[in-house]
Amino acid sequence: MMENCVFCKIVAGEIPSSKVYEDEEAVVFRDIEPKAKIHLLCVPKQHFSSLSELNAARAALLGRMLETIGRHSGEWGLAEGYRLIVNQGAAAGQTVPHLHIHILGGQTLPWE
Ligand code: 5GP
Ligand code: ZN
Repeated sequence: MMENCVFCKIVAGEIPSSKVYEDEEAVVFRDIEPKAKIHLLCVPKQHFSSLSELNAARAALLGRMLETIGRHSGEWGLAEGYRLIVNQGAAAGQTVPHLHIHILGGQTLPWE
C-alpha cells in the first residue's frame, strides 16, 4: 500500500466506494464523477502508477483484469457494449497515479 494513494485507500476500505466486484487481486467500483451513464474503474490491489511500470507479472495481472471485465460486464449493466480507457500520464489526463482501467457504458458513447 502506497501512502496518500486514494485508490490504495479504497482497496483497503479506508475510503468508502461503491464496489461492484472484488477478487484477490483487483476491485471494480463506481467512479465518483461519472463521465457516462455507467462509469466504473477496475483497479489492481497492487500499487503501481501506470503502464510505464509494467513488467511480465503486471502485464499478466492486467490480462486477468481484462478477462474479469469481459466475464462480468453483463452483470454491471454493460451487455450492450462498453469502452475501456487507460489514461497514461498527466498529458493524457491521468490524475490518480495508481493504474486503473476506466469502463464506460450504459449509453451510446460518442466517438469524436
Ligand atoms: P484518471 O483521471 O487518473 O484517469 O482517473 C481518475 C478517476 O478517479 C477520475 O475519473 C475520478 O473521478 C476518479 N476518482 C478520484 N477520486 C475518487 C474517489 O475517491 N472515489 C471514486 N470512486 N473515484 C474517484
Ligand atoms: Zn495506490
